[in-house]
Amino acid sequence: MRTITLAHPADFAGWRAAARELATTRVAADAVTWQVGDVASDLFAVAPTSSAAPSLPRAFSVSKRFLDLAESVACHSDAERFQLLYLALTRILDRRELAEDSADPLMHRIHIMAKAVHRDIHKMRAFVRFRHLPEGDRFVAWFEPEHHIVRANAPFFTRRFAQMHWSILTPEECVHWDGAELSFTPGATRADAPDGDPLEDTWRTYYAHIFNPARLKVAAMTREMPKKYWKNMPETVLIGDLIAGAQQLEQSMIDAGREPEVLAPLAALAVEASACQRCPLYLPATQTVFGEGPADARLMFVGEQPGDQEDLGGRPFIGPAGQVFDRALAAAGIDRARTYVTNAVKHFKFEPRGKRRIHSKPGTVEINACRWWIDRERAAIKPAVTVALGATAARSLTGRTVTIGKERGRPLTLADGSEAWITVHPSFLLRIEDKAAAEAEFARFVEDLAAVRARVEALPA
Ligand code: SF4
Repeated sequence: MRTITLAHPADFAGWRAAARELATTRVAADAVTWQVGDVASDLFAVAPTSSAAPSLPRAFSVSKRFLDLAESVACHSDAERFQLLYLALTRILDRRELAEDSADPLMHRIHIMAKAVHRDIHKMRAFVRFRHLPEGDRFVAWFEPEHHIVRANAPFFTRRFAQMHWSILTPEECVHWDGAELSFTPGATRADAPDGDPLEDTWRTYYAHIFNPARLKVAAMTREMPKKYWKNMPETVLIGDLIAGAQQLEQSMIDAGREPEVLAPLAALAVEASACQRCPLYLPATQTVFGEGPADARLMFVGEQPGDQEDLGGRPFIGPAGQVFDRALAAAGIDRARTYVTNAVKHFKFEPRGKRRIHSKPGTVEINACRWWIDRERAAIKPAVTVALGATAARSLTGRTVTIGKERGRPLTLADGSEAWITVHPSFLLRIEDKAAAEAEFARFVEDLAAVRARVEALPA
């Protein structure tokens, strides 16, 4: 019997190197025991190396798909994970098609494990809440993952909070970022992450603001934000009261002989969308940028997708195009606070170029996948008029290719019978180099918005 000791609980690089050697000499899976080294050792004192283990020799090449799968499964909390992966590897080397056979019980189990890890990674991204520690101007968060995902998730938090000095403490392992380097230390306790700072008030205010008890769907909310995460999220102290208020309201509607409203609330939609994986855009982006605005808005604006600043800030239209948009709204006499502003695609699609992230236009597949959310936002808000800002938004709302020049400035009827208008995206105005042409186009944009405003005012409330 061979015993392989891996450096840490998610040591995929170590597993890969050992598995390569074992497979080279055809060691059977049941002749190997896999174990993890002492997690309290000084292995944690250094930043992790990238998982760039030497690749398998030609005779043992396996698909990248399997390696990606194995890398995820290595993070699972199942004590048999490394054993199962090596067993799968030996069987795949004998029968290549097994790698793609999801009906095979072993491969099926491995796929389920990888999915559980992906879900846990995503929940950590959505539900980590930092507390500010004035000493050293650091931010600290406490999180309890189900699987060994801290190392796999660390690069995400480094990108997202690159300018902050932060630590994420977990019972098994902690990760720290000092603005330049990542480091790992052994697990901590909840008491090491102090409670209560102004950030928590901000979360609570935000959550109370977007929560609409009259439209609560408790099951959907708890499915996307499982209760086990609540204790570490400041806004969730409000949930009990909000749910109680919603249930009281529902009962009073029943007592008054009215049908309780069961539409998903915007808050629940936003929480659901924060864990969306309907298309691959969620992977490199920082977060879902959901729409914002009052639930009874009569005017809804749909843009293309969040940009770099929106991706980091988590709100739509706050970057340079958002500033043009705000200026045009003011010129057209529209109060943005009374409108609902969202995007056709809720994750930032970009090409990395050096340290920059260059906007990349969403494709039809992504627009169609994300229409799920636009449809739900529109169903919840029921705006009198929806305005598509640009061709992507127009495609999302109408389901067809739209030429803005031909269709702007007049109402269209959408499939659900509601009214839409089409105009340019504010970022188009930013790209016009000639000053006079830019001013003329801005004036035309304001004209479109003013026409929309007049139309909303003319429609019955
Ligand atoms: Fe989901 Fe839309 Fe993000 Fe795709 S872009 S993952 S559909 S929220």
